[in-house]
Amino acid sequence: MKNVLIIGSGISGLACAVKCAGLGLYATLISPVSSERSQSVMAAGGINAVTEECEEGDSVSCHIEDTLRGGARIGGKNAVTGLCEHAGDIIRYLEGIGTVFSVDSNGRPMIRAFGGQSFKRTHYCGSSTGKQIVSALIMEARRYEADGLIERKLRLDFHSALIKDWECFGALLYDEKKRLLVPFYADALVMATGGQNALFGKTTGTCLCDGYAAGKLFMQGADLKNLEFIQFHPTTLETAQKKMLISEAVRGEGGRLFYEDGGKRIYFMEDKYGPKGNLQTRDLVSREINNIGRDVYLDISFLDKKQIDVKLPEVRDLCRKYGGIDISQTPIPVAPAVHFFMGGIAVHLNHETNIKDLYAVGECASMYHGANRLGGNSLLAAIYSGWVAADDIFGRTENKTHPDFDRAIRNEEDKLTGLMSSKSSFSVIHIRDMLSDTMRKDMNMIRTESTLKEGIDDVDYLLSVAGQIWYDSSESTYTNYSLTGLLTLARAALTSALSRTESRGAHFRNDHPDMDDDYAFSTLISYDDGAYNTCLDKERVYEN
Ligand SMILES: Cc1cc2nc3c(=O)[nH]c(=O)nc-3n(C[C@H](O)[C@H](O)[C@H](O)COP(=O)(O)OP(=O)(O)OC[C@H]3O[C@@H](n4cnc5c(N)ncnc54)[C@H](O)[C@@H]3O)c2cc1C
Repeated sequence: MKNVLIIGSGISGLACAVKCAGLGLYATLISPVSSERSQSVMAAGGINAVTEECEEGDSVSCHIEDTLRGGARIGGKNAVTGLCEHAGDIIRYLEGIGTVFSVDSNGRPMIRAFGGQSFKRTHYCGSSTGKQIVSALIMEARRYEADGLIERKLRLDFHSALIKDWECFGALLYDEKKRLLVPFYADALVMATGGQNALFGKTTGTCLCDGYAAGKLFMQGADLKNLEFIQFHPTTLETAQKKMLISEAVRGEGGRLFYEDGGKRIYFMEDKYGPKGNLQTRDLVSREINNIGRDVYLDISFLDKKQIDVKLPEVRDLCRKYGGIDISQTPIPVAPAVHFFMGGIAVHLNHETNIKDLYAVGECASMYHGANRLGGNSLLAAIYSGWVAADDIFGRTENKTHPDFDRAIRNEEDKLTGLMSSKSSFSVIHIRDMLSDTMRKDMNMIRTESTLKEGIDDVDYLLSVAGQIWYDSSESTYTNYSLTGLLTLARAALTSALSRTESRGAHFRNDHPDMDDDYAFSTLISYDDGAYNTCLDKERVYEN
């Protein structure tokens, strides 16, 4: 039986495991914490699909066009077509396995508007869509666990992939409890490790998705793609620890953005873009808020209180708990913050990387969203990509015998033992904080050549510090060994942003404010013995 190792147990990892098991493959799903604590459970607003319940005039081709236009024309056309064509099946599948979508009093699915979409096509479960989908997928995974086709293992971190001659044979995992590196051989390795939040520290997501896996694989030869495209969500609520997301669902239900001038409310998005102004794409709304340069608010207080209770209960609770705000009475103060990473591990249509039998799915892979993601398309892509990878592994991968990795593993063990026995005056968290300060300052929503070059200098300095052998015993071993991978990923992202001398989607260069047709391609970056080589994917190697 083919044996698949999946790293990460959010929606994409779970969807892939369940699909593998359905095809008769044996899937092992590993993560440091349970699926219930993955970032996927935070997804609030919904999942996009054109179904028969959608508005008249909507169509799959319209969903495809909205996604490509929203992504500023660099999302892979064939990939996006597959995604949108399967969206209806995915909703039906999710219903079939017990996802409880919101329905009206006649039992008809409730569907809301999301940004950048020509029609309402976002299906949702109150404001806890991610949680519902994760729960349903866990139940499916348990069923296959009972059949001996899925095994879920916790408290394991990814360390590195086992690669020889551009072919992957599994991964080295770190067992934090036993303080041991554990080799795990597999016929295929699927990365489902989510976004790159640790690069920026305070985001709407969780730093459990830190981006280390992408950084490490890059150092091992995997190409990365479109790292400069980082989505700033327009509406977040500032708290001490986090940027709490105020879901696009609020604007989907009619929420209005405004600022005050001389006691008068100025609905700036509607003034500039008309009735659909509040639901423009996220890159545009975030920049408009940024340009206002004063406090901006989101008002939903005009909505009937019962409607708020039914459609936005989590947003209501979150604002009450973290901001002391009753959204049925008071507008919410909002500001843009880092939310989603369109860039990540480069994959072909089948979700395989440039390394044989190494796959990437979900938010850690870069494929569907081009330069800017539409709200509601990520949950869809997480499930679809998991399915595509599973199908491909089923159809292609062989049962294989692995070459001898003993020496390579001993090397890694020695390096780790050396690291753990060293002492440091540096705090690993301090270096991580310096990294996120740099990224927030130099790779913010608005960039220039000089900010990006400053960022590169700062990260190079941090890399030189991290290159010295040292160990911060107050933090986990993973936090220590992951540092170089994170810094390398940050350096790659800054380099990609520097190389794109135009503005497109979420990447806005103040020194090159216009979109340039010559750049209507994805950015690829490879790590060649420590060099960071960028090029545009003009051959469309990764987007067939
Ligand atoms: C607040 C919020 C609201 C959102 N709302 C929506 C929405 O309404 N609709 C929508 O479409 N999208 C939404 N998104 C985006 C969407 O939720 C995510 O893009 C999607 O869930 C990602 O799923 P995933 O499986 O790729 O990753 P995740 O769910 O992030 O899972 C990643 C997994 O990898 C594991 N992992 C990470 N690093 C390692 C490592 N080094 N070793 C081992 N394991 C590792 C993690 O523990 C976790 O299990 C939202 C995002 C946020 C933050």
